[in-house]
Amino acid sequence: MRAVTFHEHGDVGVLRYEDVPEPVPGPGEVVIRVRAIGCNYNDLWARRGLPGMKFDLPHISGSDAAGEIAAVGPGVSGVKAGDAVVVHPSISCRTCEACTAGQEYFCRHFKIWGFQTGPLDGSYAEYAKVPAANAVPKPARLTWEEAASIPLVLLTTYHMLVTRAQLRTGEWILVWGATSGIGIVAVQLARHMGASVVAVAGSEEKLAAARDLGAHVLVNYKTQDVVDEVRKATGRRGVDVVFEHTGQETWERSLRVMAWGARLVTCGNTTGFQAITDLRFLFNKQLSLLGSHQGNKAELMAGLRLVEAGHIKPVVGKVFPLREAAAAQTAIETGNKIGKIVLVP
Ligand SMILES: [Zn+2]
Repeated sequence: MRAVTFHEHGDVGVLRYEDVPEPVPGPGEVVIRVRAIGCNYNDLWARRGLPGMKFDLPHISGSDAAGEIAAVGPGVSGVKAGDAVVVHPSISCRTCEACTAGQEYFCRHFKIWGFQTGPLDGSYAEYAKVPAANAVPKPARLTWEEAASIPLVLLTTYHMLVTRAQLRTGEWILVWGATSGIGIVAVQLARHMGASVVAVAGSEEKLAAARDLGAHVLVNYKTQDVVDEVRKATGRRGVDVVFEHTGQETWERSLRVMAWGARLVTCGNTTGFQAITDLRFLFNKQLSLLGSHQGNKAELMAGLRLVEAGHIKPVVGKVFPLREAAAAQTAIETGNKIGKIVLVP
């Protein structure tokens, strides 16, 4: 089958479009005929390489896929050939104390599929192999491209807002990168949960898209002072929740826009990880700083029900053929996009 691989870490030039053996399902596994692939920041981290993290090479990236079950391994029940599915990207043992408590992200064997798995695993290919437990029904109303674009960002955002920050109706939330992959879900989910949304982005086009998704207040961080705009919008009170994933460049402003007793939830650091926290704000204002990483299968399925009901709509920014994965990753790297980048084999 055709797949996009890399044999060494580096810039997009290391990506190869080549033939690799088709995966064969082992016990408890299924092989999916991939119809569409969602690209994520993880794909870039793996390709570049991360200090202290070992990747099995050659590697096939891709933690999001939509397609049909092509083959099932021994002992598989609950899914059958021909079923339309998307992939739940959290791989874990499913039997340990953490897993059976619904906290698969604390499993000692936890891996993000297509990011930490391998060699030659992941969705940038014509066929992909996953544990049968990780194949979940595709929302019927979505196209293949829409379905492939949503699981990882939906799972991540659902865990951040519902489980970690416990966002409540009537609260204010600030969403950095409102038209990024997770930003588009955060704006819609927060709106659905009854919150008022301050959307931050770097262009008028992106802010118009955020408004269409349901944001109430739009702030262009390139031309406006984010802290001032939040004070204006909230009557100097600040927001109850900050949705963080950008890190170093935005962290200090994130702390300053928080109301007394507010929560900040973060799942990433796309601009760097060495952020400064003024401890006087932390204890005096009784702030809560919440880390978040992926989520569990039940959270993904609850999120997909919101998608199926039309409360959250996938936003596909651009679709590339699989062989143009380098161009797709460049679009993510430059931030020159609204919504998700999708590949089609
Ligand atoms: Zn486990």
